[in-house]
Amino acid sequence: MARPRGARARAEVVTYRLAAEYPDVHCALTHRNAFELLAATILSAQCTDERVNRVTPKLFSRYPDPAALAVADPASVEEIVASTGFFRMKAKNLIGMAQGVTERFGGVVPSAVDDLVTLPGVGRKTANVLRSVWFDEPGLPVDTHVTRLSRLLRLTSETDAVRIEHDLGGLVEPSEWGRLSLRLIEHGRRVCIARRPQCGACLLADTCPSAGRAGSLSPRARAVTRPGRASAARS
Ligand code: SF4
Repeated sequence: MARPRGARARAEVVTYRLAAEYPDVHCALTHRNAFELLAATILSAQCTDERVNRVTPKLFSRYPDPAALAVADPASVEEIVASTGFFRMKAKNLIGMAQGVTERFGGVVPSAVDDLVTLPGVGRKTANVLRSVWFDEPGLPVDTHVTRLSRLLRLTSETDAVRIEHDLGGLVEPSEWGRLSLRLIEHGRRVCIARRPQCGACLLADTCPSAGRAGSLSPRARAVTRPGRASAARS
C-alpha cells in the first residue's frame, strides 16, 4: 500500500494493525483492585513488571488496604520493596500515597487525573494507567516505549511526555487511548526494540517513516527527529 501521508492517517493504520496483532493486551502488573494497581505502578518505576510482581504479594499480604499501609513502618516497607530499586523513595511514596488516599479520599482511590497526581509518587503516566486499566476511563500512559515508537512513527515530534500524550491523544479516539498505549509497549518490547528495531519483521514497516533507518541512527539522532520541522502530529 502507499505510505499514508500525515500523522492522522498513520495513526489510523497503526491503531488498526496493532489491534489485530495484539488483540488481548492487558496490564502485566498483578492486581486485584485500584489500590494494588496504584501501588504496583508506583513500584514499577525503573523496574520490570516481573520483579514488581514478585514483591507485591508480600506487600499486599502485610498491608491489604490504604489504611494499613498508611501507618506502616517505613523500614518494613523498604525491606519488602528493596529489590525494585530506589526503595527508600518508593517506600516513602507508597506510605504517602496510602495516607493521601485515606485522609483525603475516604480510603477510595480517586479516578480523576487531577486528584491522582496529588498523591506522592503519582505522575500523569501512573494516573493514566489507573484510569485506563482499572477505571476503564480514557487514559494514555506515555512510557519509554510509547515515546520512542510515537516519534519513530512520526505521530509526534515532541520529547516531553505530556506533549506526546496530547499529540497522540488527538489522533485516536479516547476510548482507544489505553489499549493503544499497551499495544505500543508490546510492539516496542517484541519488535521495535530500542537498540535493534526489527524493521524487516515489522507489520508497520510500509507505514513507518523510520523503517530501515531507526537502527542506524545514533541515540541523539533518534532523540531529535528532524529538528526544525513542524510537529508531525499537526501535519
Ligand atoms: S518499521 Fe522499524 S522503526 Fe518503524 S515501528 Fe517498525 S520496527 Fe520500529
